[in-house]
Order: sequence, then structure tokens, then C-alpha cells
Amino acid sequence: MSPVLFWFRNDLRLHDQPALQAACAGGTRHLLPVFCLPDLEETSRWGFTRVGPHRRAWLAEALLDLGGQLERLGCPLLVCPGPAAVTLPRLAAAVGAGTVVCEDIAAPEEQAEVEALRATGLSVRTIWHSSLLDPARLPWPAHALPATFTAFRQAVERAQLHPPEPLPAPSTLPPWPPGVDIPSSLRTGLARLVVAPPAADPRSSIPPGPGGFSGGESAGLAHLARYLARRLPDSYKQTRNGLSGPGYSSKWSPWLATGALSARQALAGLRRYEAAHGVTEGSYWLWFELLWRDYFRFLHLQQGRLRYRARGLGQHLIPPHSAAGFERWRRAATGEPLIDAAMRELQSTGYLSNRLRQVVASYLLHELGGDWRAGAAWFEACLVDYDVYSNQGNWLYIAGRGTDPRGGRRFNVARQAAEHDPDGAYRRLWSAA
Ligand SMILES: Cc1cc2nc3c(=O)[nH]c(=O)nc-3n(C[C@H](O)[C@H](O)[C@H](O)COP(=O)(O)OP(=O)(O)OC[C@H]3O[C@@H](n4cnc5c(N)ncnc54)[C@H](O)[C@@H]3O)c2cc1C
Repeated sequence: MSPVLFWFRNDLRLHDQPALQAACAGGTRHLLPVFCLPDLEETSRWGFTRVGPHRRAWLAEALLDLGGQLERLGCPLLVCPGPAAVTLPRLAAAVGAGTVVCEDIAAPEEQAEVEALRATGLSVRTIWHSSLLDPARLPWPAHALPATFTAFRQAVERAQLHPPEPLPAPSTLPPWPPGVDIPSSLRTGLARLVVAPPAADPRSSIPPGPGGFSGGESAGLAHLARYLARRLPDSYKQTRNGLSGPGYSSKWSPWLATGALSARQALAGLRRYEAAHGVTEGSYWLWFELLWRDYFRFLHLQQGRLRYRARGLGQHLIPPHSAAGFERWRRAATGEPLIDAAMRELQSTGYLSNRLRQVVASYLLHELGGDWRAGAAWFEACLVDYDVYSNQGNWLYIAGRGTDPRGGRRFNVARQAAEHDPDGAYRRLWSAA
């Protein structure tokens, strides 16, 4: 049987890896795990890099961790520069592989990558595994997904749907084919990616360092265990609207986004926690939020590229984009202290609380006349937890151009500041001075 290429995408882990398991099944004797590095110089149509320094550093850490684990299993990771449709056929030719196995991602660019790869003649098998719930086992067909999150959640809970148990990490993997000669140009990805990380900001809610935040599966699993051991789910419902600090929300998202932590693994940890300590409002609310994550995924399966039109699912065109307003927003120069503080935090650390993500998104769209796609692109560049489904879904939701009948979310900044930063501590922490 000819070797199989396993293409890691947003699933940089070994635990709970149905796609990797499928690649190894059926008598595969030789496997080549590969990651295709995005073009780090690429700029968005809004004029800035698509992969900013924090996201780049997070990705590098995730790949170094994954590479180390695969090395120990005797099946090293190859990080290739360039698009999959260019590098994978070259690699397949070098090792005599005819099949690529990878994660299925239901977003237009990622689907186009797979189509371009198939067009080269390679056989590509995609396997869906990024959601909690299996979309093939939902009690409705993809086109009949409930139109609001609340209806979706209630239907899931009524039907008592439970995610499958996460798979354990493999203890062995098939080795590389013997004597392969990989062109040296295909081996340079990691060297291109890894640069000195941006300076750590002591104000960060995701501080790096020992026992702190760094990319990759090992750190992600350790973070999950620590979060549960500190019994933080108990207080989550009360603290989740916090603005600053590591503990007010789970901070699972940076690892979930690169797939270094599977959502099913996080939920299995939470369920064990509930079995030991009881179900609390807080532990329930974490499940509730993870269901939001699933919902945005399933909306993509249903609506695909329709969600990426400027008007989204809405009937009416969007107002013209205010480039000047967008630049003031992006550069933390709106003159509105809460907005500017949040935009400084986002750019300096690669993270922002959910509350402030909503407030700054609303401000750009509803006060400054910015295009939601420009805001989403800036978040894509900055966030270490950038996730195509959750980012696009939340922006469209606040713009009022998704499925929700309430038609957008407009936040009153003064009221938000009074409620969530009553003593101004957050604004002082991230003031320009
Ligand atoms: C404009 C905007 C853009 C966003 N972009 C992203 C993004 O690119 N990547 C991303 O992971 N999240 C995004 N979110 C959702 C949310 O802000 C983050 O998931 C959350 O702040 C991450 O921190 P946490 O892990 O501590 O979350 P917690 O509050 O601890 O929640 C636990 C988990 O539930 C999920 N979750 C929570 N809230 C949401 C939500 N509103 N939508 C989807 N999933 C959710 C996440 O996986 C999160 O890790 C965005 C929200 C807004 C308003």
C-alpha cells in the first residue's frame, strides 16, 4: 500500500484525532505528517498582514510541540512553505503517495484549498472533527438547522445529544517510507515561521511563561487540567464578563482555535469535573458557550459562502465603509477610552475578553460606519484564538446579517463602561500613557 500524507490543518494535536486515526487505518504502512505554512507576507484586502505577530508565535509553539511529539513516535512532522495544492503534490511525488487525509473545514477559503488539491489528481479524504456534536447525527438535516442559537440549544438539550468520547492519542504511528528524499525546499517551513516572539506584556490576560500560556497540545492539556483543579468552572457564570486577568473565563480558546485542544476533550474534562463536584451554573454555562462554537460551525455547513457576502444573509446592501473610522478604531485612536483601551490590549497581547470583543465590534459597525469584514480581518490578524467560524459568526451576528431575527447588536459604550469597568481600572491599565 502506498504511503499516506496526513495534512494537519486546524487540528494540531494527537489526542482525539479521528482524521489521523483514519489515515493510519486500513493497513497504512507508511505515513508522512505535514503542515502547510500560510504565506506570512500575505496582506488582507484591508491593507495589513493576515497573520500578526502574536498569532504567528502561537502557531510556531503549537507546531514545535506537535513536531516534538511526532518525533518521539518516530514519524516526524514536515512543515512545508507554500499552499497545499503546490507543496503536497510535490511531496506525494517524492514519496510515492497518492492519498491525502485531512480535517474537513467548512469555510470557503479552506474548501477552495481542498478543491485545488483534488484538481492536481491527488485523492483527498476529508474528515469532520472540530465540533462537539457530530453533524451527521443531528436530528435534522443540515439545511434545517434551527435559525437561532436558542432554538438550536433547546433542540440539542431536548434530544439529549451527547458528543462522542474523545479518542486517546495513538501510542504508535506508521513510520515515514524508507529512504525518502524530500527536496530541501519543502523542509524550510518551520525555519521561516519561528522568529523571536513579540515582547510579553505584563498586563496580558494570557501571560506566557512557566505554567502559563504557550501554544501546543501539551500546554493546552495542562491548562485544562489546571483550570479544573482550581475549580474555576464553579465561578465561571459570575466572572465570565470580566475584562482582565487569566481566571475570569476559561481561556481555552487559543488552544481550541489551533486544534491543540479538542472541544470534546475539554467537555469530557468538564463532565468528569461535574461528576466529582456536582453540576453548577458555571459548569453548565461552559457547555452553553461551547454549543455557540458548534452552532457557528453548523451555520457554515448550512450556508457556506453566503455568509461571506458583505450583506451576509440580509436583503439590503451595507452602507459604504468608512476607511478613516476603521483606521482610528484599528489604531486605538477613536477618543473613546474604553474602545481605545480594548484595541490596545488586542494588538499588544493577541487576546480580548468576549465582552470587549462585542463592544468594540459594535462600535466599529454602528458608530464608525466600518464594514464588518474589515473588523473581522483585523481580529483575524491579531487574535491568537482566531477561528474562522467563531470570528465570522460573531461579526455577522453583531452586524445583524446572520440568521438572528433581532437584527444586530448595538452596545452603549458609556453603559458598558459603567457596568463592567465602574472604577475605570481597565481603562487606566490600557491607557495610552
Ligand atoms: C466580534 C467577535 C469575534 C470573535 N472571534 C472569535 C475567534 O476568532 N475565535 C474564538 O474562539 N472566539 C471568538 N469570539 C468568541 C469569544 O469572544 C471567545 O471564544 C472567547 O472570548 C474566548 O475566551 P475563553 O476561551 O476564555 O472563553 P469562555 O468564555 O471561557 O468560553 C469557553 C469557550 O466557549 C466558546 N465560546 C465562548 N463564547 C463564544 C462565542 N461568542 N462564539 C463562539 N464560541 C464561543 C469558545 O470556544 C471558548 O473557548 C468572538 C467574539 C466576538 C464578539
